[in-house]
Amino acid sequence: MKKVITPKTFPKYKPGHPLLADLPEFLKNPANYEKIRRLILESIATSCTHSYILEFAKCRSCTEKMLERRALLKRLGFRSPKQFLMWRKVHEKIKERYPLVDWKVINDLRRKEEKNDVSSNY
Ligand SMILES: [Zn+2]
Repeated sequence: MKKVITPKTFPKYKPGHPLLADLPEFLKNPANYEKIRRLILESIATSCTHSYILEFAKCRSCTEKMLERRALLKRLGFRSPKQFLMWRKVHEKIKERYPLVDWKVINDLRRKEEKNDVSSNY
């Protein structure tokens, strides 16, 4: 049977990945990635070394750390673990593809350009 193609066949175009589209700007900015990544890593660091996942699940301090991490992700603006994983994947890809780019410099340049654009309009 042939499928009938209607405008509904094609989802509406939205810039960016739908899962990441509603992330706050500071999470999208590659200049902030390392800082945020470290913050999240520090939030789960414990002195425990569990060799079995079952021990980890039973450990009180590890469980608390996990809850803390979940709360931190929420505070940062992540909506779901899936969104967080996707965010990490995208930023790792950016890092891999542009290892020499200093995003802070790029941001400063962009800001300067925007300012110049605005002042030249008046
Ligand atoms: Zn533990």
